[in-house]
Amino acid sequence: MIGTPIGNLGDITDRARDTLGAVDLIACEDTRRTGRLLQLLGLDKKPLLVVNEHTEHQAASEVVRRISEGASVALVSDAGMPGISDPGQRTIRTVLDADQAVEILPGPTALITALVASGLATGRFVFEGFLARKGRERSEQLDQIAVERRTVVFYESPKRVAATLQDLARVCGEDREVAVARELTKLHEEVVRGTLSEVIGVLGDASPRGEFVVVLAGAGDTAVTWTDDDLRTRLDRHRADGASTRDAVLAVVEESGVEKRRVYALATRGP
Ligand code: SAM
Repeated sequence: MIGTPIGNLGDITDRARDTLGAVDLIACEDTRRTGRLLQLLGLDKKPLLVVNEHTEHQAASEVVRRISEGASVALVSDAGMPGISDPGQRTIRTVLDADQAVEILPGPTALITALVASGLATGRFVFEGFLARKGRERSEQLDQIAVERRTVVFYESPKRVAATLQDLARVCGEDREVAVARELTKLHEEVVRGTLSEVIGVLGDASPRGEFVVVLAGAGDTAVTWTDDDLRTRLDRHRADGASTRDAVLAVVEESGVEKRRVYALATRGP
């Protein structure tokens, strides 16, 4: 497993370059991209095997077969660490299940680079990958993120970053701290830090260009102010999932930290 640069070729390690030059086969997401990387590194062409979300199942078996024949196989993704919002995890699992050895050559990953650049708490954090694009899955994810006490890191596409920041301001309040890291390690690298309303003000509504990571501060004790409407929405959601009034109240108390008496009153009093 070899990490490759997320934008700046200078971030390739000596070990990655030497290993890519030495292996018999490279499993990669995109043959053109990896072919170009080899060329930029001054390495000769070599056999490539496509491992993407559609092919990883079969490709993983092929990797195991090649290793059992004595071949050395490298796995890279288009950028960053394979297996992080990229193919690779299934292949690692398959190789380990076949009792074959896996060696990791660590390299850059946008998640850690953005987390550190954010200036927000790094001691405990969660990575959400890409948020669901719409529907209930997204609203549930946003609700969980709003009450998460650890720093939350997620990837976002340029098309959706503005809308996602608006959604975060709605569920977390406009004063929650956030950092939006764009084009890390590249020419137009930029990290916009501030409250959600400040960062929304800087980035605007339009779809900006580039690759983005959003790093959101965890919910502090006072970071979320729960209105009666917020609490009712949560109660309704738990009831819709089949919870009794008592269980819904307990779940909302747990999520919000709001005192039970107030949640219970809302649950029983109605609007
Ligand atoms: N495996 C990669 C890693 O280790 O970071 C992530 C691959 S994922 C398909 C691509 C997403 O990662 C982008 O949409 C963006 O959210 C984030 N990303 C990758 N490179 C980036 C960069 N240079 N600057 C900011 N975000 C980046």
